[in-house]
Amino acid sequence: LSQETQDILSAHEWLTKLYHHLLRFTKDGKEGYSYLKNRGVNDEAIDEFQLGFAPNVKNFTAEFLHKKGYHQQLLVKAGLITQQDDNQVSDRFRGRVIFPIRNHLGKTVAFGGRALGDQKPKYMNSPESELFHKGKILYNFDLAKKHIRKKNAAILFEGQMDIIAAYQAGIKNVIATLGTALTEYQAKLLNRYVDTVVICYDGDRAGLDAAYKAAVLLRDVGCEVKIAHLQHNMDPDNFIEKYGGEKFENEVIKASDTFISFYMRYLMKDYNMNNEGDRLHYIEEVLKQLAMIDSSIEREYYLKELSNEYNISMDTLSNEISGYREKFG
Ligand code: ATP
Ligand code: MN
Ligand code: MN
Ligand code: MN
Repeated sequence: LSQETQDILSAHEWLTKLYHHLLRFTKDGKEGYSYLKNRGVNDEAIDEFQLGFAPNVKNFTAEFLHKKGYHQQLLVKAGLITQQDDNQVSDRFRGRVIFPIRNHLGKTVAFGGRALGDQKPKYMNSPESELFHKGKILYNFDLAKKHIRKKNAAILFEGQMDIIAAYQAGIKNVIATLGTALTEYQAKLLNRYVDTVVICYDGDRAGLDAAYKAAVLLRDVGCEVKIAHLQHNMDPDNFIEKYGGEKFENEVIKASDTFISFYMRYLMKDYNMNNEGDRLHYIEEVLKQLAMIDSSIEREYYLKELSNEYNISMDTLSNEISGYREKFG
């Protein structure tokens, strides 16, 4: 590592400790501490994830690191402070709860900061840098790795609060993409460690679309993928807070869909199922997906489901799907 990279890493280490200390033990961090308490985050989780608070002071971080001997330009480059056109600098993270983002070695390489109220943006992350590529990092991968291996399964969430809620419920084979779309790099990384990935994104439209894309990527790199189903207004963190970890394991994770079942539900949103033309078109689209399944037992299983659901004979469906299978070779 270059001297500069080492300095950026050590600056992140200082700040992780400072922000955490402020939140945990001082008056200056009390706002952040109360915020987490109100959301049901306990001290053990605060310590495990080194959660912190950055005070709402313009040059708090800049001055602290200046006293430690760090050059201003280095901190700008690291994305810890921002520089305006008039060369004035100010802290990037102010008045926010801080989530250190660790790389696979457990080193903090970036921060995520959550606003305490409705301020925009709700979350703010460090900018991309030599050490931090959002598309290459999976939040919590360093802590989750051994649990992922042991269970041969990983649960993939959208955000930090989902991870923390699961952790507190004793579910530790969990990682998150920090709101961005899963990348092929991350999918391949996961495939090196597990057979099964359960995608558990938010139950809103954005979460569904992202889950579909992630599912296709994971399937294409060779993972067995399952997709959890949450009600529209829910995400994993508020589900676990409301119903507890046991219900989450039993009714969300264990009940998650196979790719095809998910696809059948997902695709339905684009069609008016009361309209016959739409309904037929929908069935054709599903058949195209089913045609790609190699196992005839599995194919038959879903064909039966379609046959029952839409009152179409197995013969008709089988003929249709044979046509698609020939076409796809
Ligand atoms: P909370 O529970 O704190 O309200 P959340 O995790 O449920 O947050 P989502 O809106 O579902 O928030 O977003 C999922 C993740 O996406 C967040 O955890 C965060 O990492 C990232 N994110 C959300 N909003 C932004 C934003 N405006 N800019 C950058 N990243 C964001
Ligand atoms: Mn979301
Ligand atoms: Mn969410
Ligand atoms: Mn949430």
